[in-house]
Amino acid sequence: MPFIFKPDMAAPRQQEKLEEAARRRDEVFRKHPDLEKLDHKIKERELKLRGARFHGLNQRQRSRLQEEIKGLKEQFQVLLQERGIPLDFKEPRWDCNSCEDRGEILTSTGFVRCGCHQEQDLDHLRRQAGLPPRYADATFASARLDLYAPRSDSGQDTPRARAERAFQAGRDFVQKQLPEKSSRGLLIDGPVGSGKTFLLACVANELLANGRAVRYISYSDFLFLVRLSFAPDSPYSEYELIRDIEKIPVLIIDDLGTEQATDFSSSLLYRIIDHRYGKKLPFVISTSCSLNQLARRLGYLGEKIMQRVTESCRICGLRGDVREKIIARERGNNG
Ligand SMILES: [Zn+2]
Repeated sequence: MPFIFKPDMAAPRQQEKLEEAARRRDEVFRKHPDLEKLDHKIKERELKLRGARFHGLNQRQRSRLQEEIKGLKEQFQVLLQERGIPLDFKEPRWDCNSCEDRGEILTSTGFVRCGCHQEQDLDHLRRQAGLPPRYADATFASARLDLYAPRSDSGQDTPRARAERAFQAGRDFVQKQLPEKSSRGLLIDGPVGSGKTFLLACVANELLANGRAVRYISYSDFLFLVRLSFAPDSPYSEYELIRDIEKIPVLIIDDLGTEQATDFSSSLLYRIIDHRYGKKLPFVISTSCSLNQLARRLGYLGEKIMQRVTESCRICGLRGDVREKIIARERGNNG
């Protein structure tokens, strides 16, 4: 699986290891000058052997030189052992011997990411995703759909049937992103506590585990950051904040419509949604509003935003308050 993000950390790490090895060697030679002299002698002989033709050495002279080098190396090793110095004291201590900490291995088809770096890449993707830490372990496998009520008072779909459909829609969304990207998004509506964020986190974590870059935002938090960026001493730049959101392969917007929109927030959201729509980049949205309410709450461009959203998203709902049940269960467990 090719990774989208490629942190350039391998080379500095390799350089660090090489420098560390050099320091270790210098330290040993400083304490044991005779070893340095011997090491120098070996290198000198090896150099001479490599340039044997240039030096006009015949076969017999070469063999003698080889013997001499072998003897010197044995002598060197004996001295190291006597003094309790590791035989490989000059060698870099690689974390990964396969790629020598370069992060890449040369294969017949070119350079490929070494397995040792995939975990690092995943860590980076996870940090970049911005998922709330409490949802770090949310997975489809750990979803407790049995917490949703199996019966309905209104004669409509039961909360459990809805949840099964919504979580399946989440799985389908992920499936369509892997290995090929699909522009079809997902919108989940449902009241507070119905498990929307958990479902979004399942989607995010599954994509991340497969090396796909994802960004999770709550739109109100994102707006807060954008507003902060207007301050002259802000560490954020509005341009960068918005560009990241526009470019990320999968954008997850949690809890859309919690605040009554302003003209600014409405036009910004339209810009983001329209850009992604045009570039066929999917978004996954959750909201505790109905679609009509959402269109109203998203301000003067609400209708246009919802047009884009409904055109490009599969729509599912969650019902019931599973958070209550989880809390009740935890209380029960605690006695
Ligand atoms: Zn490696």
